Amino acid sequence: CLMAGVETFAAWLRDYAGVIKENAAYLTELDSAIGDADHGSNMDRGMQAVVELLDAGQFETPGELLKKAGMTLVSKVGGASGPLYGTFLLRFGTALSGEVTPASVGEALHAGVGGILARGKAEVGDKTMYDAWAPALAAYDAAVAGGGDLASALKAAADAAAQGRDSTTPLVARKGRASYLGERSAGHQDPGATSSTLLLESAARTLT
Ligand code: ADP
Ligand code: MG
Ligand code: MG
Repeated sequence: CLMAGVETFAAWLRDYAGVIKENAAYLTELDSAIGDADHGSNMDRGMQAVVELLDAGQFETPGELLKKAGMTLVSKVGGASGPLYGTFLLRFGTALSGEVTPASVGEALHAGVGGILARGKAEVGDKTMYDAWAPALAAYDAAVAGGGDLASALKAAADAAAQGRDSTTPLVARKGRASYLGERSAGHQDPGATSSTLLLESAARTLT
């Protein structure tokens, strides 16, 4: 039984903010090929605002912290990624009530990704962040069903997300700005699938 609390989830978001800062130029370069060259700056602006929230606030529960972080992303990031990641964290935080266990984090991940789908209506193969999330959820569930602990389930999810991210490269985009390019979107890795993989890799490092 795990006693991960507010500090653990704050550490996750702080770690991710640092990873986003380090990768901002790379994410923006990916978005310059098939979008409008702002994914790194969008994510960096949003995650810096989340860090300010963490520095300023006191939070009773992980759920409260995650919900407020989600609202911050929705309000601070203008692009598609702000509402998508914001809704992910909002629904993740809402679902994560009670004890933090492999099963409860799994439910929260499913709820969060449900929010991404409710907002974005993506399907697997549309060349979006969902192409990282869908295999990540399946790998997480399989690891938990096999008796894995939180750390090993998150590691399995992050590895599957990385494969899903790589699978976006040959695809023709059917959602988001990249879809405006039609066939010319093929041959480029999706920026949002890349930042989503970074979020799961960060979770695997910190939520243990
Ligand atoms: P914008 O496209 O508004 O400039 P960003 O560049 O920050 O926003 O984010 C782009 C990323 O958002 C894409 O790489 C893709 O992964 C993701 N995305 C865009 N539209 C959708 C959607 N409908 N569903 C899921 N993800 C999407
Ligand atoms: Mg963009
Ligand atoms: Mg934009």
